[in-house]
Amino acid sequence: MAGKTDRDFALASDDALFLDFDGTLAGLQDDASSVSLVSGMDAVLVACAERVGGALAVLSGRDLSDLAKRVPAQLWRFGNHGLRRAAPNEHPSGTITSAPKELVAALQILAMRHPGVQLEPKGPVLAIHYRAAPALEAELGDALRLAIMPFPDYSVQHGKMVYEAKPGAANKGACLIKAMSASPFKGRRPVMIGDDTTDEDAFAAAQSLGGFAIKVGAGSTVAQHRLPSVTDVHELLTEFASA
Ligand SMILES: [Mg+2]
Repeated sequence: MAGKTDRDFALASDDALFLDFDGTLAGLQDDASSVSLVSGMDAVLVACAERVGGALAVLSGRDLSDLAKRVPAQLWRFGNHGLRRAAPNEHPSGTITSAPKELVAALQILAMRHPGVQLEPKGPVLAIHYRAAPALEAELGDALRLAIMPFPDYSVQHGKMVYEAKPGAANKGACLIKAMSASPFKGRRPVMIGDDTTDEDAFAAAQSLGGFAIKVGAGSTVAQHRLPSVTDVHELLTEFASA
């Protein structure tokens, strides 16, 4: 585990913190619906938010309503890869455009044909989980890229045991840049911490705005810094909260 002295970076009270949820704040599990913060992390996150003047957001690919059940309401919560946002103590509201129904139908058929594969619609984003059928990875990717061809705004992103068909606007990097243009984030140094491919756009965005990015775990990344595990993220945030 990386100790404080090993790190080549430090958080500061004039930072704006953007934190992914799954695989960053909470460990990945086979059943995504059972993922939650470990005991005490709620309070740590709220304390971190206070240290940075409220400029802390959890930025997740989860649907906002789902994300809101898992993190403290005192925080900014950006769900659906940034397409939906809730301010501190604001209940997620409003509706979100769905994916084109022809695309949903095509992916439903694709999921039905492959046992162990699950389709999760998240507004306009469609996630295809294959954690229960890892051998299908290549075949699914090919089928999915074919299925989205009639939808030029859509692209396929490959994450951990999941493919996501996303419209161009569903982008964590665009979300971070938009957030940085307004209070309480504006004028601060953006720091993005994440673990997966969908976080790469936000890593690049944070770094392009003079901040830095931290990749959690192994794998190639544009982030300048790395932490080995969720536990190390907890340690970093706990130290920062109590500093
Ligand atoms: Mg993640």
